Amino acid sequence: MKVQCLQVGAIETNCYLLCDEAAGVCAVIDPGDEAGRIAAAVRKSGCAPSAVLLTHGHYDHTGGVAELRGMWPEIPVYLNREDTPAMGAPEMLFPAVPGTTHYAEGDTVNVGGLAVKVLHTPGHSRGSVSLLCDTVLFSGDTLFAGDCGRTDLWGGDMEQMLRSLGRLGLLDGDFTVCPGHMETSSLELERRRNPWLRQGMRMLRP
Ligand SMILES: [Zn+2]
Repeated sequence: MKVQCLQVGAIETNCYLLCDEAAGVCAVIDPGDEAGRIAAAVRKSGCAPSAVLLTHGHYDHTGGVAELRGMWPEIPVYLNREDTPAMGAPEMLFPAVPGTTHYAEGDTVNVGGLAVKVLHTPGHSRGSVSLLCDTVLFSGDTLFAGDCGRTDLWGGDMEQMLRSLGRLGLLDGDFTVCPGHMETSSLELERRRNPWLRQGMRMLRP
């Protein structure tokens, strides 16, 4: 298993390639922009794309999807239903993503031999999910290094954010945290220093 990060677009969204090198298969997480550069990185990885996984529906995480689907029409694009215009999410912020498959809490997506587990972690948006694969946590705009995502946009909710962060903090063991923006971290470091994560953990386990 190998994880590669590309920062894409004007607000530097972290797009990740999650590769099962043994199987020669990869998933693309949050292709927010610069589809051509992402496709080149996939080609260079030697892995065939099998899925696009979206942590939430904001345009800066989904902007490259349509172009990638043009190149790879057969691969599924996963998004939580709550972050779609069909559920009332405003198109300005949550543009419709063509051909999505909906995933939700408890689902598992297989990428070659890797199992990616879906945790529904609302707060930044109603449909925000975090993705767990082996020892890596893709936390979208829920958990950042030393911080958390904003909760003042449509569907955001600070109480839900704290509960979602608390749930991540209470996961068993340590994980590499790969967030939707800025640098990577570790869950253990966040448990020590991240005031929002700590507050959320206290809410769930006083
Ligand atoms: Zn966002």
